[in-house]
Amino acid sequence: MTRLLFAIACSWLLGGCAPTRPVAIGRSIEGAPLVAENHGRGHHRVYLIGLIHGNEPEGFGAVDEIRRVLRDHPGVRARLVPTMNPDGHAADSRGNARGVDLNRNWPASNFAPAPDRGPAPLSEPESEAVFADLMRFAPDLLIVMHSIRRGGPFVNFDGPEPAGHLARAFAEAAAANDARWRVVPSMGYPTPGSLGTFAGVDLRIPILTIEFERGHGPEEARLATGAGLDAVLRALTSRPQPTQRRPPTVAADPGEPR
Ligand SMILES: [Zn+2]
Repeated sequence: MTRLLFAIACSWLLGGCAPTRPVAIGRSIEGAPLVAENHGRGHHRVYLIGLIHGNEPEGFGAVDEIRRVLRDHPGVRARLVPTMNPDGHAADSRGNARGVDLNRNWPASNFAPAPDRGPAPLSEPESEAVFADLMRFAPDLLIVMHSIRRGGPFVNFDGPEPAGHLARAFAEAAAANDARWRVVPSMGYPTPGSLGTFAGVDLRIPILTIEFERGHGPEEARLATGAGLDAVLRALTSRPQPTQRRPPTVAADPGEPR
């Protein structure tokens, strides 16, 4: 009973002493649960995805560190999806169980159907589930973890400020342990149907794409995540709180392709 009252007080009065129980938001093609966790309470709303490409597990490996940093920022309301591609992760493949790249399957203005992008936006249960959850949550900032074989580690960003400011905050803090961390404003190749284009360019929600070096050791990923995410949340909460919520609809005007 005492524990129950403590949990209720934490959730509703004190702003989250502990994360709430993970919420089921859908299932993968092979039936694996997709879950989201709520952390903290406050006016700034951050949505984090630990893994979207199955063969890029570095961010997922740092999920405990993400949770630790979020506990240090109880004034940030965060929603964490540790992985949105459990099937790809199990198979060590970029796409989901049908070979569709879940970072090319969003209803972005530049979506183009292809076998590895799906026949239509949100054709895949994983992207459909996270899209619905993301739109309900209406974040002020998205952070998505990836890794890259060459040119990493870096932070890419899309959307209006403070996207660039927050990308620099992550890279500068992570560089204290690994001086290679930097900001790369453009990936340098087209990414039709990507979450960056959908959220950042079309919906104008700042989004950070964290690119670890592929094969980054767990300790390197943990250190970069701990320092970088902490710096981002400090920079975010030092800004005036957002005054308007974005409507949970897809913007009609086409954004710049990237
Ligand atoms: Zn990736």
